[in-house]
Amino acid sequence: MRRAVFPGSFDPITLGHENIIRRALSMFDEIVLAVGVNTSKKTRFTLDQRLEMLNLVFQDVAQVRIESYQGLTVNFCDEIDASWMLRGVRNGGDFEYERTIAQMSKRLNSSLETVILFTDPEYAAISSSVVRDILSNGGDISEFVPQAVLKFV
Ligand code: ADP
Repeated sequence: MRRAVFPGSFDPITLGHENIIRRALSMFDEIVLAVGVNTSKKTRFTLDQRLEMLNLVFQDVAQVRIESYQGLTVNFCDEIDASWMLRGVRNGGDFEYERTIAQMSKRLNSSLETVILFTDPEYAAISSSVVRDILSNGGDISEFVPQAVLKFV
């Protein structure tokens, strides 16, 4: 069973995340979307809302499973027997960040490999934080997020 974890806050999920996940489906038997719970981090959407959004977006995809976790991502991968971590990269900044995380994850769990997909260019400027800024200022986010997110705003 080729199982990958795609970890993130998904606050909220964007079309960029969805694109990476759908493109990776041919590479894995199962992709676990893992919502990291960080009690000291204030989120725009509650954990339940974020889980429900993900469930709605991927309700048509049997290969995708949604979970939440606390603590180190590498430990969560170990617990659910996932040998790959899936990440997306938009630009040089993401690249440097992801390289550090991947190399540190390897130090903590040497059997875990990080797989990176580069974003398709039309999604390169989309981030959850920009979506949250647009929302706080009353703007329209419908071009940047899956439709299912809109029922939560
Ligand atoms: P975190 O809160 O851990 O940064 P995010 O939800 O922002 O989590 O991102 C999770 C993963 O999705 C990261 O690998 C990030 O680089 C990637 N990602 C975020 N936005 C995009 C996008 N528009 N295109 C491709 N990958 C993306």
